[in-house]
This record gives sequence, C-alpha cells and structure tokens, in this order.
Amino acid sequence: MRMIINVNKNNYYLHFLLFLVNLYEILLIMKLLLKYFLILLNFLLLISYSYSKEELNIYSARQEVLMRPLLDLFENKFNIKINMISAKANQLINRILQEGDFTKADLLLTTDVGRLHLAKEKNIFQKIDSTSLINLIPKNYRDEENYWFGVSLRARIIVYDSNKVNESSLKGYLDLANSKWTDNILVRSSSNVYNQSLISAMTINYGESEVKKFLEKFINNFARKPSGGDRDQIRAVASGEGDIALVNSYYFLKMKNQDEGEKIKHVLGYFPQDSIMKTHINISGVGVIKNSKNKKNAIKFIEFLVSNEAQKIYAEINYEYPIRKNIMLNNFMQKYNNFEKDDINLSDLAKQNKKSIMLMDIAGWQ
Ligand code: FE
Repeated sequence: MRMIINVNKNNYYLHFLLFLVNLYEILLIMKLLLKYFLILLNFLLLISYSYSKEELNIYSARQEVLMRPLLDLFENKFNIKINMISAKANQLINRILQEGDFTKADLLLTTDVGRLHLAKEKNIFQKIDSTSLINLIPKNYRDEENYWFGVSLRARIIVYDSNKVNESSLKGYLDLANSKWTDNILVRSSSNVYNQSLISAMTINYGESEVKKFLEKFINNFARKPSGGDRDQIRAVASGEGDIALVNSYYFLKMKNQDEGEKIKHVLGYFPQDSIMKTHINISGVGVIKNSKNKKNAIKFIEFLVSNEAQKIYAEINYEYPIRKNIMLNNFMQKYNNFEKDDINLSDLAKQNKKSIMLMDIAGWQ
C-alpha cells in the first residue's frame, strides 16, 4: 500500500517537472514571437510615418469647402496631406509677415491678382522655376518674374433684368456712365478688390482721364449706397431694386445653375465689350511662400492645379473658367464661355491698384 502511494507521488513530481519544462518552452516561444511582433510593428510604424510626414500647408483666401474636391484628389494622388487655413487675403498676408521665418505656410491662394501683387511687394513669395507652369499658363496670367501664377479665370460681367432691359442697350463698361442708367446700377463698395481691379483694367484700356470722367458719372447712376457682396447685387436685380449690376461671373453662374425656384429666371448675364475693351478678366492664383519648408510639394500642387483634370473640376464645381485653353467643359459652362476676354497683362493691372483706389475715392464711390 505504501509503495503504491510512493509510486503515485513520484509520478506526480515527474508530471509537475514536465509541466514546468513545457511552460518554460512556451514562454520562450512567446518571448520570441513578441520580439518578432515588435520588430514588425516598428517596421509598420516607420512606413506609415514616412508616408504621413509629407505635408503641405496652404493659407487660402478661398473657402476650404470650395477647394475640398481638388484637395482630396491631390492628397490621394500624391499621398501628401494638406492643411488649409482660410481667411481674408490681407489677414493671411499679415499673418505670414508676422510669423516670419517660423511660418508654416507653404502657399498663399488668393482670389484676385491685386492680392498676389501685394504679397509679392511685401516680399513673402519666392521665385518659382517651373517650365511646365510657364508652358501651361498664358503669359498675361502669371507674374513676369514668376513670383505668382494664375490658376483659374473669372469675368466681371453685367447682369440685367430682362423684363426691363433689352440686351441691345448693353455695351462696354464705359457705357455704364450713360445717363440712361440713372438710379439703376447696383454694385458693391469701392473697398472691394474686384471693383478696384476692374477700374485698373479700364485705366489701362481707356486711359486715366477717360476713367476719371467715367467714375464721376457712374456713381450718379447707383440705385442705392453700395452694400453687400456680388450675390446681394444679383438678388437686388431680381427683386427690382435696380435694372443692372456688376458682378463676378461665378456667383451669377452658380445661382443660375441652381435656380430651381426660378427666382432669377428673368436675370440674364451680359459680357461687356466695346471697340476698345473686352470683358474684364481676373484670376484666382497662388504663390510659394519665401520661408516654405515644403517647396517641392508646393510646386507640385500648383502644377496639379493647372492639370487637365483639376482645371475641369475648378470650372465645373466652382463655375470659374479654365486658365488653359482647350479644356472640355460641361454644356452649362460652355454656354457661358463664349465671349471675348480683355487680354491685358494682369501684372500691369495689379500695379495700378493704389491709383485705382485713389480715383474711386476722389469720385466718391463709397
Ligand atoms: Fe469672390
């Protein structure tokens, strides 16, 4: 009986010993697995880090929501993450100046050539050497020293109440001074850069003395004290506050294309022109910041913006005109892209900005 108990006891120790050996082996294997797992994890982290470190910081005068489709496309295509800050162009220029060497900004995107010129004057841009940008963007829509580049076009057009105005009575910009329009023109204030650029373009085309005479009479034709944005002028024509308004094309085209309630059915667009000046064109454009830490990606982004694909999106989502010729547009945009564009050099136009502000001020355009 005692012997049986001893044998069982030995058996029990043997089993326990075997169990300990097995446990040790299992722990060894687990340790090895853990080691390999950590190596793999490290490797994966390294890969994802090397992908995510590619970034581009854009300070934009254009709302991010309007740029999103283009930003998404760029991010997916090049695996570069875009961070965008939106504000008014002047605020962004001041911010970049204050941030100096420490700025995160790689690009400044503006919606008027006047602001691009100002950024160049304030010395926050750097020269960009890109043959493809020079080849793709017409000369009059980029800086003569390659400090900024236009990426899309917009026209400053007349919209009119077709119940009250016959298209045949509409002519070029100078005709807006005609007394036939007394108390009937709607336009936003002279502090708006789109108006300043129009006056600059008129000064180059017609000469300063002609523009001075124009401004004096033009402001007498205002239907009301200038207020609101371009969309407000279109709504005011629709509601009968005035017969005609001066507005940027993309505001009108977007409202027209989305006019399901037919609220502006009777409001039509006219592209001003006479024998001297055709329809005034402005750009949205971009420059690379002098202290950019991602210069290569910044140039890649501008080149992307003028690619066939991006130009079509720009036009069809934002209702702007491509900066390049021969971009196939949808029917709606094609219908409104059949006009003659004033072809002055926008670098020259931008230099006139201060003088234009002064002329508008002297004339009393609020
Ligand atoms: Fe605008």
